[in-house]
Amino acid sequence: MKKRVLIIGGGAAGLMAAIVAARKGARVTVLERESQVGKKLLATGNGRCNLSNRDQAFVHYRCEKPEFAAQALKAFGLTETLKFFQELGIEVKDKNGYLYPYSQQASAVADVLRMEALEQGVKLSCNARVESLGKKGGLFYVETPGWTYEGEALILACGSLAHGGSGDGYEYAERLGHRVIPALPALVQLKASREWPAQLAGIRMDARVRLLIEGELAAEDTGEVQFLAYGISGIPVFQVSRYGARALARRKSVEVRLHLLPSYSREETEELLSKRAECRGKRPAEAWLLGLFPEKLIPVLLKRGQIGKNRQAGTLTREELRQLAEVIEEFRVPIVGTNDYAQAQVCTGGVEVGQVDPETMESRLLPGLYFAGELLDVDGACGGYNLQWAWTSGSLAGRSAAGGKEA
Ligand SMILES: Cc1cc2nc3c(=O)[nH]c(=O)nc-3n(C[C@H](O)[C@H](O)[C@H](O)COP(=O)(O)OP(=O)(O)OC[C@H]3O[C@@H](n4cnc5c(N)ncnc54)[C@H](O)[C@@H]3O)c2cc1C
Repeated sequence: MKKRVLIIGGGAAGLMAAIVAARKGARVTVLERESQVGKKLLATGNGRCNLSNRDQAFVHYRCEKPEFAAQALKAFGLTETLKFFQELGIEVKDKNGYLYPYSQQASAVADVLRMEALEQGVKLSCNARVESLGKKGGLFYVETPGWTYEGEALILACGSLAHGGSGDGYEYAERLGHRVIPALPALVQLKASREWPAQLAGIRMDARVRLLIEGELAAEDTGEVQFLAYGISGIPVFQVSRYGARALARRKSVEVRLHLLPSYSREETEELLSKRAECRGKRPAEAWLLGLFPEKLIPVLLKRGQIGKNRQAGTLTREELRQLAEVIEEFRVPIVGTNDYAQAQVCTGGVEVGQVDPETMESRLLPGLYFAGELLDVDGACGGYNLQWAWTSGSLAGRSAAGGKEA
C-alpha cells in the first residue's frame, strides 16, 4: 500500500513537501485552512517573489542552533532549488544575486506549484479546519468538521503568526510534545520611545543601521531607512529587527544608532561640515545644511548638536562642528518595541530545532512527524532566504516522509 502523508498547511513549504512526497510515490493530502493554497506567496517580493539568493552564506539564516539550518541547506540548497523550479517551467531572473521568476510574477510560482501538486496526484483540501490531531496505534489522524484523515506520516507546515498567519502550528507541535520558542515579529518596523520626533515621518534616506543591545553592537546593515511617526522602517531596519525583538522580550535595552552619512568617516564628516561653514558662513545653521540632509531633519540634528537654528554657520566652533558630526554619525533611536505580527514578514522563534533531525526534518521525539518552513525556529534575512528555507525544509520533509533520504 502507498504511504499516506498528511500535510497541514498549503503554503510554500507545504506545497514543496507535497510535490516531493508524491513524486516519491506517497499518497499525499494537503489540508489548507484558506480557500486556496499558496496565498501568502502572492504577496512575496512585492508581488514578484524573491524566491532565493545567489549568496547562500549561512549567516543569512538565523536560528538558536545555526548549524541546523546549515546542515539542511547542504542537503537541499540553491542548486537543487533552481533545478526544481526550472523543471516546473520557472526561468529565473538574477538581480544582483536576488532571484525572481523571470516573469516577475509571484502568482507564477504559486500556480506552477499548485499545478505540479495536482499533476502528481496530491489531494488539495482547502477550507479545511483542523479540529484535533494526534497519533493512535501507529497512525496519525487529523480531524476536520467533515472528515478524519489518517496517515503514516504527518508534516506540520502551518507557517507562523506573521502577516495574518494562524500560529496554529505552534499549538499542534506543543500538543504533540514539542518545545516551541515563543514567536516574535521579525523583518518588521521598530518603534522608538516617546521622545521620538514624529515630524520626521516621511523622510527616506540612506543610512547605516547599528542595533545595540545593552550598549553592545548586535547587528548592522546599510540601505534606505524610512522614518515613521513612531519609529523607523526600511530593509536595513528589517534586517536587524529580529535581534531587537528577542532582546526586548528578555527586557534588555535596545538602541539603534543611525549613521546618516554612511559613506563618510568621522574625519570626513567633520571636514565636510567645516568646509560648508567656510563657504556658506553667512547662512543661519538651519539653511546651511540644506542640500545635505532632508529639510525636516535639520532642526532635529541642530537641536541634538545643541546649535541654535539661527546661528551663523561661520561662527560655529571646531568643538560644535565635532559635536554635530557625532550626532550625524550616531543618531540615536531608543527602541521600545516592534510593530505587531500583522506587519511582520516573518517570525523569529518556533519549534525548537534540537528536537528535529536537520537532514530529514523528522521529529526526534515522535517518529513519523515532520516540520517544514517558518514554523521551525529558523528565520532568514530579507533577500529570498525565508522562501529558500521553505523550499529546503519542505523538500527534506516531503522526501523523508515518503520514505527515504535520497533525492
Ligand atoms: C508581505 C511578505 C513578503 C514576503 N516576501 C518574501 C520574499 O520575497 N522572499 C522570501 O524569501 N520571503 C518572503 N516572505 C516570507 C515568506 O513568504 C515566508 O517565510 C514563507 O511563505 C513561509 O512559508 P511556509 O510554508 O512556512 O508558511 P506560509 O507560506 O505562511 O504557509 C502556511 C500555510 O498554512 C496554512 N495554515 C495555517 N494554519 C493552518 C491550519 N490550522 N490548518 C490548515 N492550514 C493552516 C496557512 O493558511 C498557509 O497557507 C514574505 C512574507 C510576507 C508576509
